[in-house]
Amino acid sequence: MMVLMYAAATPQQIDDVIARIAHSMMQPLRLPGDEHVAIGIASAIPPDLRPVLTEALAMLPGVEHVIQISRPYKLASREFRRVDTLVNIDSGTAKVEIGGSRVVVMAGPCSVENREQIFETARAVKAAGATVLRGGAYKPRTSPYAFQGLGLEGLRLLKEVGREVGILTISEVMAPEDVESVAAHVDILQIGARNMQNYALLIAAGKSGHPTMLKRGPSASIDEFLLAAEYLLHHGSQDVMLCERGVHPLDRTYTRNTLDLNAVPVLKQLSHLPVIVDPSHGVGVARYVPAMARASVAAGADGIILEVHPSPKDALSDGAQSLTPDQFAATVSEMRQIAIAIGRSL
Ligand code: PEP
Ligand code: MN
Repeated sequence: MMVLMYAAATPQQIDDVIARIAHSMMQPLRLPGDEHVAIGIASAIPPDLRPVLTEALAMLPGVEHVIQISRPYKLASREFRRVDTLVNIDSGTAKVEIGGSRVVVMAGPCSVENREQIFETARAVKAAGATVLRGGAYKPRTSPYAFQGLGLEGLRLLKEVGREVGILTISEVMAPEDVESVAAHVDILQIGARNMQNYALLIAAGKSGHPTMLKRGPSASIDEFLLAAEYLLHHGSQDVMLCERGVHPLDRTYTRNTLDLNAVPVLKQLSHLPVIVDPSHGVGVARYVPAMARASVAAGADGIILEVHPSPKDALSDGAQSLTPDQFAATVSEMRQIAIAIGRSL
């Protein structure tokens, strides 16, 4: 259950609602929203208390209405917020709205490798229609001997290229202690699939209030995914995006993961948060990426994130799934046609 206060509710009225909940031996939970304050009830409400408490709370001054939230996640749920969340990001030299009718394209290399590579890719993906440049500086690699990313130097390059080329940037943060520094260099934090349930990281990213794209863990259920997003929202983030990036496959013979496009309409129904799809990691093979990128737009994704490298065969990570700038440009025009066909733009 959740009590939604009017935007004009006074602090005293909010306190009275909290006191009324506590009076029924339930645990009140203050949930700050962008306009309204909401007060959730963290404990399970006995069925006989529910109607009495609903009525008592609905009568209190300042209460807009009492919502019954059936889901384990609250702030992330569509029941809490009926309208789609729009994530607006403006860096001064570039801006974007994510979650509206225009499908957003994010693209760039798996890892930032050097100045030339990131500048060349940024210019190419921007010219082809991308509004956000991706590039990992801290890389979660299966092997400790694989390229681990340029770290701070990679972040500095992203900041520089973002400003100079006029494109927004996204990069992965792997450790709570790096949140501040990553947020100071890029416009969007990425929480990777492997860290979806790293609660210390989710709390630190949430507290930063920086726009954050959360990737679904390869074995995470939809509810686990949304509860991870709930951590970000509960700790103060407003600008949270969900990213489907493929789940653990039945068969690794031909593809790396299985892109779970079912998740797109399901997440759009259960949550108000924008949904991004990553066909590059979802498929893992460049040849199949354009088809799944088109399918992602058709399924209703609000954004697509693609790996692009000037020379995929030389990439220090994920070359096999990276598109060349030409392949990327062709994929963008195909995705645009799909977007138009379903009444959106791209
Ligand atoms: C990436 O975006 O390069 C990445 C490591 O993704 P994921 O966390 O989805 O594996
Ligand atoms: Mn990658």
